[in-house]
Amino acid sequence: MEEEAYGAALQYFTGSKDHNIKLRSLAIDKGWKLNEYGLFKKDLTEVVARGTEEDIYKALGLKIMPPELREDRGEIEASLKGNLPELIELKNIKGDLHVHTVASDGNATMEEFAWACKKRGYEYLGITDHSYGLRVTDGLSAERLRGNIDIAHNVAKRVDGLKILIGAEVEILEDGSLDYPGDVLRELDFVVGAVHSKFNMESDAMTKRILTAISNDYLTILAHPTGRRLEQREPYFIDLEKVMLAAKAAGVCLELNAFPERMDLNDVNCRMAKEIGVKIAIDTDSHNVPQLDNMFFGVATARRGWLEKGDVLNTLSLKELVSFLST
Ligand SMILES: [Zn+2]
Ligand SMILES: [Zn+2]
Repeated sequence: MEEEAYGAALQYFTGSKDHNIKLRSLAIDKGWKLNEYGLFKKDLTEVVARGTEEDIYKALGLKIMPPELREDRGEIEASLKGNLPELIELKNIKGDLHVHTVASDGNATMEEFAWACKKRGYEYLGITDHSYGLRVTDGLSAERLRGNIDIAHNVAKRVDGLKILIGAEVEILEDGSLDYPGDVLRELDFVVGAVHSKFNMESDAMTKRILTAISNDYLTILAHPTGRRLEQREPYFIDLEKVMLAAKAAGVCLELNAFPERMDLNDVNCRMAKEIGVKIAIDTDSHNVPQLDNMFFGVATARRGWLEKGDVLNTLSLKELVSFLST
C-alpha cells in the first residue's frame, strides 16, 4: 500500500542519471532532499512533494517535461527559463515523402499506398521510386518515371482527398551530381537525393559530394544523411555541420529516416539541425504498406532531438507544402 502511494513519485527516475543528479542539486539548493520516495525537508521530517511526478517538478520550480527530454542536455535550464520545447507528436504528421512502389523495389502499388495514407488521415503522399543509377532496385528510366506521373493521375481520380506528389529518390553520384538531368527533375513535384554507393570516401570528399548535391536547384530533401544501417554499416564520414549550414542556406531539408535500421539523423543530429535552423523531413522510406507505421519511430527520435512541429517539413498542410515546394 505504502509502496503504491509512492509509485508516482518514483517515476522521476525515468530521467537519465545526470538529469536526476541535477534535480537533486536543485533540491539541495532549496534546503531539501530528493530521493526515490519523494521530496522532503532536509531532516526528512516533512514532505514537500511526493504525490505525483508533476508535484515534484513543480516544487523544484520546473515544468513537468516529457521523459524524452530528461537527459541533462539543457532541459532543466530551459525549464527554469520557461523555454521548454513543445515536442512534435505523431498526430502533427500530415504526410510521408519517401515511399517506394512496385515501379522500383517496393512491394505495394501506388494506389495501395494512397489508400493506406488516406486511412491515416494524411493530406499527401510523396512517391520516390529509385532513379536509373540504382540498377539493383530496378531504378526508373526517365521514361518509366513519366509513367509514374500517369499512374498518379489515375490513382488521384480514385483516391480523393489525398494529394499524390511525384518525386524520385535520385542517386547522388560520386561527383555530387544527380543521375537525372535537369529537364527530368523539373517535371517532378519534389526530389529526394541519396547516397547509395561509394560509402568509404574521405570526409572532405564525401562532404564536398553532398554539398554539390545540395547546390542542385532541384534537390528538396537529402535522404538518410549519414548512411548508417544499425548493426550493419557505420555512418559515412561527413561534416554534418557544414552540410546543415549549406542545406539551410539552400532551403534543402534533411531527412530523419524512420526505417528502424536507419534512424538517421539520430537525436543528437536532430538537435544540431534545430539549432542551425535546417528543416527536417521525417519519412518512412516504406517499401510496403505496414512500414508506413514506422513514422512512430521517426517521431520518437525527433522528440529526443527536441524537434517541434515547426521544425518538420511534413507537418505542413498540403497548401503550405505546395507553397514551400514552389519556392
Ligand atoms: Zn535510400
Ligand atoms: Zn528510399
